[in-house]
Order: sequence, then C-alpha cells, then structure tokens
Amino acid sequence: MSVRPPVRIDLRSDTVTRPSNAMRAVMHTAEVGDDVYGDDPTVNRLQAYAAERFGYAAALFAPSGTQTNLLALLAHCGRGDEYIVGQEAHTYKYEGGGAAVLGSIQPQPLNNQADGSIALGDIAAAIKPDDFHFARSRLLALENTIGGRVLPPAYVQAATSLAHERGLATHLDGARICNAAVKLGVELNEVVAGFDSVSVCLSKGLGAPVGSVLCGDKDFIKSALRWRKMLGGGMRQAGGLAAAGLYALENNIQRLAEDHANAQRLAAGLQQIAVLQVQTPQTNILYADIPAAACAGLETHLLAQGILARVTPHMRMVTHLDVSSADIDEVIAAFQTYFASWKAASD
Ligand SMILES: *Cc1c(COP(=O)(O)O)cnc(C)c1O
Repeated sequence: MSVRPPVRIDLRSDTVTRPSNAMRAVMHTAEVGDDVYGDDPTVNRLQAYAAERFGYAAALFAPSGTQTNLLALLAHCGRGDEYIVGQEAHTYKYEGGGAAVLGSIQPQPLNNQADGSIALGDIAAAIKPDDFHFARSRLLALENTIGGRVLPPAYVQAATSLAHERGLATHLDGARICNAAVKLGVELNEVVAGFDSVSVCLSKGLGAPVGSVLCGDKDFIKSALRWRKMLGGGMRQAGGLAAAGLYALENNIQRLAEDHANAQRLAAGLQQIAVLQVQTPQTNILYADIPAAACAGLETHLLAQGILARVTPHMRMVTHLDVSSADIDEVIAAFQTYFASWKAASD
C-alpha cells in the first residue's frame, strides 16, 4: 500500500487558510474581556473598525457567516415575512434553511442569471402586495461575490433602489465582498452602498481562523445582538479571535489581488488541456468541467502529489493566501500529467 504524501496545496476552499505567524502573534497578545458583558476591548475594536471601514453605524462579531446571515434575516424579518433571494445564494441553499426553521421566515427564491444577479423584473414581480393571502415581502438578500462572480455595480444600485422603493430592506451576504472590492478597485464602503446590512467573512480569503462581522445601523445591531445570544453565539474572552479578524481586515485585503491572479494563472494553464472546459475566473474561484469518467482518477492523482481538491464534473477550485504561484504551476503540471495518460488510456 502506498503512503499518501501530506497535503501541501488545498484547493477545496479559501476557508482552509491557517493563521500566519504574524496573525498568531497578535492573537497571542490580544487584550481580552468578557464580550457577553460587552467589555472585551479587542472585540470592541474589531467591531468599531469593521463598522467604519464598511460605512455603517455599528457592527457585531459572530462565530460564523452562517450565523451573521441568520442574525440579519432574524433582525430584518419577523414570523410570516419573506426574503427574496437567489436560488444559488448561500443564505437560501447552504444554510440548512435556518431562517425558515428558526425564524418562521419564508424564502422566495428566484433564478440567478449567468452573471449571478437576479433579474430586476423577477424581483419586482415577486414582491407581494399587502394581502393576507401572501407572506409579507420584507427583504431583498443578494450575495457578492457569488460563485466567484462580482455583481455589476450598476445592477447593485438598481436592485437595492428597487427594493427600497417598494418598502423592502436590503441585506448583502458579503462573505467575499473584499474580493469584489479589490476586483473593482473601489473602497469597502462603496461596494456595499445600498445595503442596509452586510455580513463579511473574516475566515475565508482574509485568512482569520474563525468569525464573521455583521454591519448595520444601531437598532439593527441591537436586535442582532439579542438573536446572537439566543443562538448561543455570545462568546466570552473572544479577543484573541477578534485580533485575528482585525489583523485580517488591516493587512489581508489588498493581497486578494494575488489570489485573483493565481486563479487566472490556473485557468490559463488548464485551458491548454483539450478535454477540459475551463471558465475564466473573475476573482479567486474557478470552475472547470471535467469528463465524468476522469474525476475519481484525477482526485487520486492530485492527492498523490499532495494536492487536495474535490474533483466533480463541474469542479470548483479556490485560490487563497496559502497557495502560491509556484503551487499553481505544480497543480497545472499534475493535471497535464494525468490527462496525458488518461487520453492515451481512452484512445
Ligand atoms: C462561507 C460563506 C458563508 C458563511 O459560511 P460559514 O462557514 O458559516 O462562515 C456565507 N455566505 C457565503 C457566500 C459563503 O461563501
């Protein structure tokens, strides 16, 4: 039996990043208090800093992005309300139906267009009149980036204006909003303009081990704080984690451009392999169509080279701060070797 080499390159997600030595150093020395009493100075600094950078009155630190999205849905919507959301959106598809399960909030999912947007006409048509047959349309929830795609700024402006004109609030699942800001070359407060609230993941490409921040106005955050406690998200001496998040926001945003460049480099390399259909990525997420018969063998082959990826017919690869451009070249080479012999075997 062959022994697998250790994983050196992990392309499954940008959640896999390990805190750097510099990040660990600030975690180690962070001042802490009891955040449930509101007196952890580092958590308070993170929240103040996030609110300022994203242009909101207040912010709240929570253990995960699933929780910050849920807090937002619970704070914006009550029992019998609904939120309009994309079929592909994380808040609809990948959060266990939490808003419905825990908040009696009905999702109104709509198709996402090829660019990740939801057509304005579809949104307008889905907003229900005030009639007791219907749930109350209360919120529009968008996601940016979505599947690595950056929503066009003019679309965001139009969609959030439409929602507000029709009396809906707006929430942004901005798990990867910093990738969008870097790609567009705009400030964080510009890229979230039009949204009453935003959830931002610190634990993806920004490289923190844990945590998300939710930003909004003071009353909204007060309501979210109450829900966070109820959901068990009140953390005590959380300053060490907040220090990592603060470090991530202060140091790891501009470097996301390197991840985008690496995703492009990977796409360009894989596009040379004839049997693959490889999309050109906008940010750090790359999709490639792999012949179904090649998937299992490719996954094993990559693993033997220390490359961890989930190989499926519509394969997702994610670049992040623990993947270098030299790593990308190794991944391309591993694909090339595999498909050189795979093709020969199937001839
Ligand atoms: C990762 C992610 C979240 C939240 O994920 P957690 O793992 O709960 O932190 C939310 N939305 C999107 C789009 C994500 O990619």
